[in-house]
Formats: sequence, structure tokens, C-alpha cells
Amino acid sequence: MPRPRERSSESPPTAAAGAAIGALTAATALLAFAAWHGGLDWPVVAIAALAVGAAVLIGGRDRAPPSAGPAALPQERPAAPDRLLDQIPEPVILVDRLVVVRLANEAASALFPALRIDQPLSFALRAPDVLDGIAGALSTGLPARLEYDERVPVERSFEVRIGPLAPPDAALLFFRDLTAARRLEHMRVDFVANASHELRTPLASLLGFIETLQGPARDDPAAREKFLEIMRGQALRMTRLIEDLLSLSRVELKAHLRPDTPLDLAAIVRQMVDTLAPLAREHGVEIALAVGEKPHIVLGDRDELLRAVENLIDNAVKYGEAGKRVEVALRRLDRGDGRPSEFELAVRDHGPGIPPEHLPRLTERFYRADVVESRQKGGTGLGLAIVKHIVARHRGRLAIESEPGEGATFRIALPEAPPERRQAAV
Ligand code: ADP
Repeated sequence: MPRPRERSSESPPTAAAGAAIGALTAATALLAFAAWHGGLDWPVVAIAALAVGAAVLIGGRDRAPPSAGPAALPQERPAAPDRLLDQIPEPVILVDRLVVVRLANEAASALFPALRIDQPLSFALRAPDVLDGIAGALSTGLPARLEYDERVPVERSFEVRIGPLAPPDAALLFFRDLTAARRLEHMRVDFVANASHELRTPLASLLGFIETLQGPARDDPAAREKFLEIMRGQALRMTRLIEDLLSLSRVELKAHLRPDTPLDLAAIVRQMVDTLAPLAREHGVEIALAVGEKPHIVLGDRDELLRAVENLIDNAVKYGEAGKRVEVALRRLDRGDGRPSEFELAVRDHGPGIPPEHLPRLTERFYRADVVESRQKGGTGLGLAIVKHIVARHRGRLAIESEPGEGATFRIALPEAPPERRQAAV
């Protein structure tokens, strides 16, 4: 992206004194702004110190003997404050009393490609609120803070801080990108709303049955048995949900810690196939296991890997029950190119499969391809989100393939443990 570095023909003379004033302005502005921002971050102080240094240096050279002559002035001097501002990763723009751009860093040029030095800011930033805010700050001499949203090419939100420089004949604009924070906030609000909704339904049903048992069904033993059974089901549903929520938060808490215990993945898969055999029988499904005799050693967390394998086989049995058969296969993948080999676990069912539009979202919390079916089968909508987090913590990959009517295949690939760690596997 071109930098609006070139000055127009009306730009001020490229005198060292001008550069020194610019550098000092940038330094003062940075310090004032950082203080106002709520603290002096070290990068800002460092840049400001550099700017002061540059100002002194340039000012000093300005007083150099005339023999040096104007021709001896290095061309890039006036750009010094700009380059210092470039060290700030967020957009920073200095405008004068007429809201004409005097300095802008690289981040500002990237955000506003039409931005040009010595041109009005309004040519590049068509945001009346921000322009009004600058005019207000310049006339009152008071700092201002407002929000600015970009819609194209992508939706982004910024907090804009406007710091008038005393006497208010210039203003420094700082843009802070709020997009990621906003997205996280949305996710948090959605998550709380979803979790509350999931708990409210069984809770309301439990309360309804309790009232019925206390009132109309008080002396009806047959109704009491039936209602108690339903209440048990609802209580179990809430228990599963709480367990899944806790699992998810435990894995998230440890997300940055890579598990380090050498484990035989084959033993984990065998153990889980045995554990789920009664469930498979209940659904009339046969689980076919294909695991080599050799150990398949990975560095992992046993409980988490058991949980991930359980979720995939449990889903295949529940949702793919119509296919009557679930294949669980573990194999070694040699990836070549000096990359470490991996073990791939594939869980394949022959049920109805998953429509393609749902595939990219299946690992989101509470996302279900079919909400009614998931609830009927005791699902919480969190199973695959938990699998995704566990796999990520193990530095692995999760892939989902499905053709409607042809069943679904869920694959987990985990890196093989380095040779020196394979002996200690448990
Ligand atoms: P749930 O608790 O609802 O099973 P998951 O996160 O485990 O939640 O799965 C999310 C959704 O993905 C399920 O509700 C279901 O719609 C779909 N799904 C998962 N596994 C399969 C499968 N083997 N076949 C078809 N659909 C599946």
C-alpha cells in the first residue's frame, strides 16, 4: 500500500527546524496522550524519548555552521517524526487547526488508503462524528473519545481518542481496534444466553412436574411413577450440560499448556470402544475396530483424549445408528518433508450424514445440525466444541467429512511423540 509520505507542492519548507518541531510535537503529543490514555506504556515512552532525541539532534544540526549549506541537509530529515510514529502499531494521525493531515503513521495509511499529508482529513475519513469530535476538541481544548465503525471491506470498530495539543492548534488522533474485543464480547454474551436457555427448559419442566405431583397427581401412584421418570431424565440432561460446560472450561483454561505425558493412543481407543459397547448394543450398532498391534505414542492428557474419542464414537453410534455399523480406525501417517509423523483416528458411520451447510459450524458451542434430534438423543451441543479444544491443545487437527445419505467421518490427527519420549509411554 502506498504511503502518503510525499508532501504536496504547498508543503512547508523542509527545514531542520520544522522537523525538530514536528518531532517535539510528536513526542509531546505521545506523552500527553499516553498519560491521558491511562498510563505511560513503555513503547510510547521509548518512542517519545526517541522523538525528543531526534528533535534535539535535528535542532542541533540546524545550528551547524553555514558551510554545511542547504544542499548538505539530508532529504529524509523531515520524515523523522513520521517514522517514529510508524513504530506504533495502531493508527495515529496528527491534524492541524484546519483538520489538515500533518503526520500519519503506517497503520493509519493502511486503514485509510486515501490519506495524504497536507490534505484535509475529510478526504480520507468520511465519518462526520469523528470530524465533529476533532472540531469540538480544537475549539474547547478538551480531549474527546468516540467510536468509529468501518463497514467495508470488512466490519471493524475503533475507539478514536482525540487529544488537542495546547494551545489547541493541532490534534492527535489515536485509533484503537475494538473488533476482536467486540467479537469476544458477542461470543461471551451468546454463550451465557445459550447456556441459560439450555438449563431453563429442563428446569421449567422439573418445576411443572413438581407442582403437578404436589397438586392434581398427589394421590395417583401411576402418574407419580411416570412423572418421576421424566423428571429423572431432565435432571440427567442438566447434569450432562453442567459436566460438558465444566469440561470445556477446564480445557480452555489449559489451552496454552501442551500436554506432556507419553500415552498409547491405541490403548485409549480400545478402552473407549469397550466402554461404549453397551451403548452400541442398545442402538443395534456394531463397532468395527481397526488398530495395529504397535503402540501409537503421543504426548497427551489421558482423560482429555478419552473424552475426545468418546464424543466422536458416541455421536457416530447415536446419529449414525441407521447405518448399523461404525468403523473406528487408527493409522500412522508419514507426512514426508521432514515433518513429524502423525496418528490419525477416523470414526466413520453410515447414517444419514450431515448437510454441507452445517459442516463449518459443527464445532461451535451449542451448534446442532438438528436441534430436536440432538435433544432427543441427550445431546448438549457441546461435544464437538470440546473435541476441537482438546485436539487444539494437543497440537492436532480435526476434520469432518460427510455426504448426505452416505454417513459422516470425523478424523483426528495427533503428532507422534518424539523418539526419546516413546519408551516411557503408559
Ligand atoms: P450434541 O451434544 O448435540 O451431539 P455435538 O457437538 O457432539 O453435540 O455435535 C453437534 C451436532 O453435530 C449434533 O447435534 C449433530 O447435529 C451433528 N453430528 C455430530 N456427529 C454426527 C454424526 N456422526 N452424524 C450426523 N450428525 C452428527
